[in-house]
Amino acid sequence: MTALASTNARARPADRDAWQAMRRGFACRCPACGEGKLYKSYLKVVDRCDVCGTELHHHRADDAPPYFTIFIVGHFVIAALLAFDEFWPDAPYWLHALLWSAFIIVSSLWLLPLVKGALVGYQWALRMHGFGGASDEDAMAKAKPTASWPTIGGADRSA
Ligand SMILES: [Zn+2]
Repeated sequence: MTALASTNARARPADRDAWQAMRRGFACRCPACGEGKLYKSYLKVVDRCDVCGTELHHHRADDAPPYFTIFIVGHFVIAALLAFDEFWPDAPYWLHALLWSAFIIVSSLWLLPLVKGALVGYQWALRMHGFGGASDEDAMAKAKPTASWPTIGGADRSA
């Protein structure tokens, strides 16, 4: 029992705190140390943290940051628009168009790198996409079934 427990402890790396990693990413900092910068430009993630050396190029944020940014900003805009309309029901349409367009553009551009950072932190904490040491291709190769398709009547038709 003790030998088995120690074998499992050795085989499985320590858990990473996902909330902490997401908070650090949201602050545009390295999810591992919280010190190094996460971006080299607006949305370009650095290949490696300048402070702790953690490789950050493994992330696959893809379309998730815009999706979550739209989701968050949309809810704020609808709530703000309804509240605004409650207090100033006779506001002209041009004011609505100007105000909400500006709000959507500015808040989306502000929030997008923060949300992307949180998602990169989440992927790092869960050891996704190579953050755990194995590439996606290695993981897929491991997940492939080794048994062949079942055959009718047990006959092997591949030969
Ligand atoms: Zn770091």
